[in-house]
Amino acid sequence: MSQPRLYMFQCGVISQHWHDLMLGQRLGEPVDVPVPWYLVTHTDGHTLVDGGNPAICAVDAHRHWGEIADRCTPRMTPEQACTVELEAVGIAPADVRYIVQSHLHLDHTGALSAIAAFPNATVVATRAEFEYAHAPDWFSRALYVRADFTDPAIAWTLLEKHEDGYDVYGDGVVRLWQSPGHSPGHLAIEVTLAASGSILLAVDAVATLHHWDERALPGFATSHLEAVRSVRTLRRIAHRSQSTVVPGHDPDAWPTFKHSPHYYE
Ligand SMILES: [Zn+2]
Repeated sequence: MSQPRLYMFQCGVISQHWHDLMLGQRLGEPVDVPVPWYLVTHTDGHTLVDGGNPAICAVDAHRHWGEIADRCTPRMTPEQACTVELEAVGIAPADVRYIVQSHLHLDHTGALSAIAAFPNATVVATRAEFEYAHAPDWFSRALYVRADFTDPAIAWTLLEKHEDGYDVYGDGVVRLWQSPGHSPGHLAIEVTLAASGSILLAVDAVATLHHWDERALPGFATSHLEAVRSVRTLRRIAHRSQSTVVPGHDPDAWPTFKHSPHYYE
């Protein structure tokens, strides 16, 4: 396994409403959005991105998430937990060297919440996101589940504001782009592969292509201004790199990508 590969996984869906994704549009229309997460294989140890929902969501989401599980209801099976999915494609969690957190919202902490399964992993996030997750404003408090990210066993690497474009391996395969707005310390992940070229995992900086195409503001943001400008920044990066852009929760775009056990290389 010399060439890096990118696997795209789906940790079930979240049943919610279109107006959660598009501000003031399609009011009350229900939608099931995918919960993606990713793995980049690498000879220096693998990088896992986010890990979807914590495994407990398959059993009792309401107990773990609280009341928000009534409005944004996760639907996943125990087999969709990230540790189980990794084993299914022959990846040992002990071979994961980095867990990159796009941000710390509750549907992105599947790996963190199972940190004991990743004994050799350093967790990479921004300091801005780490600090905000510990003291969120009232309107975003429900999106951060403290139990997922406060285990003292987590070995954090916190990126500062000036470390934009952070190159995880130093070889250009995984680069992290600061893209605040959906949350204060959001990261998009650019994966550069030998045959597939640049794949930009925009995660929740671009929840659906409506944001990318500037047809709707996101339904949730800590700053709509930052969110809009982060999309512009990512568009410049994608143009420069001729990237394939992967939105974070787009029910129409998601089926167009290759899903695990298939992969990009
Ligand atoms: Zn989010």
